[in-house]
Amino acid sequence: MSASQCIFCRISAGEIPCRQVYATSTVLAFHDIQPQAPTHILLIPRLHIATLNDFPIEQRGLAADLIAATQQIVRDLGLATRGYRVIINTNADAGQEVFHLHWHICGGQPLGKMLTINRAQ
Ligand code: 5GP
Ligand code: ZN
Repeated sequence: MSASQCIFCRISAGEIPCRQVYATSTVLAFHDIQPQAPTHILLIPRLHIATLNDFPIEQRGLAADLIAATQQIVRDLGLATRGYRVIINTNADAGQEVFHLHWHICGGQPLGKMLTINRAQ
């Protein structure tokens, strides 16, 4: 998919509205449209990167920006001390639906065990 058709590139460009919580020239965070926790934020690099596998490792500054954004967001939203979970779904087994790298920041209640796997499979 080209960046111009990518939904998160379009959100980053301001072409599609979002409930923004944090923005810099390199990263953007906004509320997930279908929250799965009381607080469910999506954090994206503005640069179009399809999956974590494709992250250009030389972009160390961007990786640091994403971590700095996470720290600020969880402080601002009152999650830093009580706890939260960061999730990066990657490709089919993880159910990735939007192929623009994003991490989910979820919190606001006890989140239970990390994974629920059907062990019969
Ligand atoms: P994935 O399954 O790819 O890890 O997660 C994609 C996430 O993007 C889902 O949680 C979904 O609810 C969210 N999402 C998809 N389209 C939009 C949108 O247009 N706006 C917002 N705010 N979230 C979206
Ligand atoms: Zn994109």
